[in-house]
Amino acid sequence: MVCTSVTLPGGQRAIVCGPRGPVRKCACGARAQLQCDWKVDGGTCDAWIYEACTTMPAAGKDICPTHKPALQAWLAAR
Ligand SMILES: [Zn+2]
Ligand SMILES: [Zn+2]
Repeated sequence: MVCTSVTLPGGQRAIVCGPRGPVRKCACGARAQLQCDWKVDGGTCDAWIYEACTTMPAAGKDICPTHKPALQAWLAAR
């Protein structure tokens, strides 16, 4: 469950817990902590990536296994 703190009308604070959001799982099924930073139309891929499955072209950047070939092609073309 995911719990968030909300402010009620009148200023009281309450903790609201709900079902988990989108499942944070890597394509391999492992629990993921990272998100793909590969640029796609309208933003970034945002696929969840397990830390052992990421490719880091630069500090703070992560590329999912799906986009790794595209990254390598891009690096090779530079
Ligand atoms: Zn994985
Ligand atoms: Zn991706």
